[in-house]
This record gives sequence, C-alpha cells and structure tokens, in this order.
Amino acid sequence: MTVKRKSTAEPTAGGTPTDLANAAVALAVSAPWLEPQRRRLAEAWRGTRFPHALLLRGPAGVGKAALAEWVARLVLCDERQQAPCGACSSCQLLAAGNHPDFLRAGLEEDARQVKIEAVRALALALTMKSYRQGYKVAVVAPADRMSPGAANALLKTLEEPAANTVLILVADQADRLPATVASRCQQLRVPRPDPATALHWLETRESRTDWELCLDLAYGSPLRAVSIAATGGATLARDMGELLEALAGQGRDLISEAERWVKAGAAERVRWVEFWAARAVREAQVGEGSHSLDMRVLHSTTQRRHIQSLFAVHDSAREASGWLQRGSVNAQLLVEGLLLDLVRAVRSRPAEGKNS
Ligand SMILES: [Zn+2]
Repeated sequence: MTVKRKSTAEPTAGGTPTDLANAAVALAVSAPWLEPQRRRLAEAWRGTRFPHALLLRGPAGVGKAALAEWVARLVLCDERQQAPCGACSSCQLLAAGNHPDFLRAGLEEDARQVKIEAVRALALALTMKSYRQGYKVAVVAPADRMSPGAANALLKTLEEPAANTVLILVADQADRLPATVASRCQQLRVPRPDPATALHWLETRESRTDWELCLDLAYGSPLRAVSIAATGGATLARDMGELLEALAGQGRDLISEAERWVKAGAAERVRWVEFWAARAVREAQVGEGSHSLDMRVLHSTTQRRHIQSLFAVHDSAREASGWLQRGSVNAQLLVEGLLLDLVRAVRSRPAEGKNS
C-alpha cells in the first residue's frame, strides 16, 4: 500500500514562495551532490549536538538555499528519527507555508542588500517562545548581501543564541561576511558537483541537447544551468554568433551592446566569449600548421597577431568572469573593455584560411 502524502512540486517559474520552497526541498533531496551534507546534518540532528548557527557556503547555483529549506524541515519535523518525514503536522505546515516557527529574511524586490529591519525582526522572533513547543528556525539568504547594519543586528543572536533555535546563513561569497558573524557559525561547504554528476542530474530532469553548453556557461553549477536553459542557452549561442559577425563587419555600438549584456546577464555572455576564444585559438593554431612552408612564412605574421588577439580576448573574458563572480564591479565598463578586445580579434583574422 502506498502512503499518500502531498508530493513536493517541481520548480515552476514565478510560483508562490511556498511552491518555490517545496520545489527547493525536492531539489535538495534529488541532488546527489548534496547527499554528504544531508547525511552529516541528519546525523548531527539525531545525535546530541546541532549547531545554533550554520553557514552554508559555496559557489552560486549549487543548491545551498535548497539545502537550507531542507534543514528547516529536518529541525522542525516532529519525528526526529525520520526527519524530515513529510507527513507530520509540522512538515505539513511547512509544505503549506504556514509554520509559525520558521522565519526567513532575504532580499526584497529589487533591493541590493538584506535590510536591517528584516534581520532585526527575525532576531527578535528568535528570542520568543516557540509556538509549537519545539525549535525555531530562521534562514538568512543571501547572507553575504546583508547591509553592515543588518549583519550587526545579527551579532547578538549569534553571541547569545536562545535555546532551541537554529539560524542558517546562506552565502555564495562567505568571505564577504564580517568575521565576527562567520566565526560564530558552524560552516558547511557545498562544492560544485563534478561535471558528469551534474550532467546526469540535469538529463534526468529534462531531456535537452544543450545541457553541456548550459552547464559550461553556468561554470558547472547545475541550478544555474537550469536557469540558463530556461532563458534559452541555444538562443544565447545564436545571439553571440550574430554579434561576432556584426563585429567583424561594420560593427555595432559597443556601449549599447554592453548595456544589453548587463541587462540580459553579462556573466553567461562573458563565459561564452571565454569558451569561444579558447576554441578559436586552437582552430587558428591548427590552421597555421596546415599551410605549406612558404605559405606559413607569408601567413605567419598576421596569423600570429590574430592568435595573440584571441589570447587577449580569452584572458580578459576570464578576468571579467572572476570580477563578475565576486560582484561589486562596474559590469558595464568591464563588458565594454571585453567587446573592444573582441573587435580587435575578429578584425585581425587573416583573409585566407578563415576559421569558421
Ligand atoms: Zn515531519
């Protein structure tokens, strides 16, 4: 006989916060690379020592926020040994988005920082008695985007945690957190899965031919690959192909092109250029080898210059990627610089032995 229980929904674009939270939990359970973290946390919970404060850190798009949702269900479930059971009244309240002892603070619409008011309210709520005579759990995500005031407001909670409370911080860039905050949390790293694991997981979710491209563009982060796929990985490749042609011809206005990139997601485009340049260097080098000796001498100066310009594109794309990952950078200026390098490279291409 099958036990009927409310199934957790798959992620849906623009779902309610509850839909999203349920989808996140389903994801945390289905992701094989989160298994060691889940096991460690479940063991700690069934044992005697569970941290008052947990910092989930690691690159963007690997499922840290999903894991935080799962931890909330682990800690709030009424059946400690089977937690999260999905069937008890606590689990049902969480699935319905109605658990009174679960709190969240995050970015409000279009805000760049997690505000002090949100963190204060959460810290205050943690000091109050549990409504269900159990634990209280609070998640701050993205914690690395807390304003200095907000981070400060969290300090007292970290220094003198109330009994039976768990605070979970989620950070892509944990080194941006004040040391006073980070050092008071038990830190759990969530690394990127290896590409084969990520690819397999993506393919079991949905059959697509461009998962590998999406995963590459996402720096190997599977959840980011999902969102790139949702916004059209193939479309991106086509747009970029058209851009290269335009740059080789009469060109495009680089400033407005950079604006478009920043609006549409500069990181993926910069990453695409990095791949493109690496491939173009290889192809140009192979092309050079295929000429006769006389041709090679004739060819070599322009060809070498072309290869150098491709290396320059590759290096600036890689550097720009790093900056964009770390955030707090003038993306517009960065992209304009990269586009200039790109123009130089596509226009330095020798007329003969063109690379496709
Ligand atoms: Zn339960």
